[in-house]
Amino acid sequence: MPTSKRFPTAHLLNVNERFFLIDCGEGTQIQLRRFKFGFAKINRIFISHIHGDHLFGLFGLLSSFQLLGRKNELHIHGPGEIREMVLFYERYFGTEQSYRIKVHPLGYTREMLIFEDERMEVFSFPLKHRVPTCGFLFKEKTAELNLKKEAIDRFKPGIENIHKIKKGDDLVQSDGTIIANEQLTLPPWKPRSYAYCSDTAFDPGLSEFLQEVDLLYHESTFSKDDEDLAAKTGHSSSVQAAEIARICNARKLLLGHFSSRYKSTDGLLLEAQSIFSNSVAVNDGDVFEVERTRTENIPEE
Ligand SMILES: [Zn+2]
Ligand SMILES: [Zn+2]
Repeated sequence: MPTSKRFPTAHLLNVNERFFLIDCGEGTQIQLRRFKFGFAKINRIFISHIHGDHLFGLFGLLSSFQLLGRKNELHIHGPGEIREMVLFYERYFGTEQSYRIKVHPLGYTREMLIFEDERMEVFSFPLKHRVPTCGFLFKEKTAELNLKKEAIDRFKPGIENIHKIKKGDDLVQSDGTIIANEQLTLPPWKPRSYAYCSDTAFDPGLSEFLQEVDLLYHESTFSKDDEDLAAKTGHSSSVQAAEIARICNARKLLLGHFSSRYKSTDGLLLEAQSIFSNSVAVNDGDVFEVERTRTENIPEE
């Protein structure tokens, strides 16, 4: 249930200035406005399942795109039924639609690569909920080597050589001298990852696919004392969310989707922290950055 402090679920993910909207609960566009995000930058939306608290904001957003004169195609990855809903929307509200909407139906039998470009990949994976539901894993691809500025200034390789150096080649200078690649580059950044575990019952089987994930969002609808309710409704307790983070070796856990029965989330957070210390109970508008680390330590000069 929405409360005066919490809107239903929606996450906005920025991967090197590509923006992805993950779920779109009621009021998402209002929150995007409140947090000063120009939503025309969204070209891809991921919907985990057909429950209103993850979906009711979609049609308002589609309509605002139209009012803003959107031209870019919009891609929606979600349950196949969304295609029907979009057709209904277009029939009654989108008669002068200025942009195309393409729906990509999810599968529920196994992990699947559902989107990739030159820098990242997005996978869907099945969750255990009352209706077919998927989580999403966003992963950067391994980056090229980073150039050492002072070495580049000193040896001045041309553009063509720079491309080769970034891929690991040594530099052969015009007099035949070879400059080893290690002298010219830093190890690349470690690819970062973010997993979104929308509504789900406790499922330790997730840990295999999500091993070493940097940032894990896992729903935490109930307190440990209400785990029977969690099991009955296809949700998790904060302790179960923390257990998933622990067995995944995640770097950080974000907890959300709290039942409105709890006046404060402090108790749920403490329970989670007793299992996985780097846990955070999220509030609307919170921003989390996944820090970059090198794939190997840089030796001191
Ligand atoms: Zn649900
Ligand atoms: Zn939900």
